[in-house]
Amino acid sequence: MAKRHRLLVVGNWKMNPRTLKEAEKLFLEVQKGVKSGEVIIAPPFPFISDLHLLSRMKRIKLAAQDIFFDTHGAHTGEVSLPMLKSVGVTASIVGHSERRERGESNAEIYKDIQTLIKHRTLAIVCVGEKTRNNDHHGDYFNAVETQLVAALKNLKPAELKYIVVAYEPVWAIGTRNDATPEDVGEMKLFIRKVLSDRFNRVAAAKVPILYGGSVNKENAGALIEKGGVDGFLVGGASLKAKEFLSIIEEASYAIART
Ligand code: PEP
Repeated sequence: MAKRHRLLVVGNWKMNPRTLKEAEKLFLEVQKGVKSGEVIIAPPFPFISDLHLLSRMKRIKLAAQDIFFDTHGAHTGEVSLPMLKSVGVTASIVGHSERRERGESNAEIYKDIQTLIKHRTLAIVCVGEKTRNNDHHGDYFNAVETQLVAALKNLKPAELKYIVVAYEPVWAIGTRNDATPEDVGEMKLFIRKVLSDRFNRVAAAKVPILYGGSVNKENAGALIEKGGVDGFLVGGASLKAKEFLSIIEEASYAIART
């Protein structure tokens, strides 16, 4: 059996919490309680710098929720990777479905990934079908493959060390309608195969594959154990320190059991 990756849990805070004070409180509670795994928190841009100053643990890293591909210049409203790195960011979510929904294209996602790799920064690449009809397996596998291939086009196998894939079926995000561990396990194997076919088996095996979509402390254990994923991308539940920490704990127990 292939060696498992170290547990990785990413908390995507989206446009929450409402103030810096609340963000600091949440961050400190998470920092105090994390005992295992690697944790990445993706707060809104204005909070990153202050949270970096509060950061005391190597196992907790800060990510951006998105980047702009260019380094500087006339791009009103955009934030570049060098700016983010200068305030403590070491990773970025790329291609989240909420951004794709607002018009972000595969071509833009590709450019963002190229930028992250050029700056040796981890890219947490989100892929996932919008809907799932179990009578049409081909449709959702094709949707995920198309997004993955477009995102990772032209990468060299060695550059896969900067890639994490987050399988996030859109219908499961923020809906409490989580995918079954069996469905997640099947998609994880499929993603691994797409990576192996495009690159090579050894390089592909090094890519952590996460699941995201209504993860909570009740489903976390089974998603790791039966779904075989290396961790989670957590939205809503990452805003409650206790719930987020329980997810990490359940996931670490499950990893220890497998
Ligand atoms: C997400 O937005 O990436 C996500 C997984 O959200 P939730 O956990 O709330 O479904």
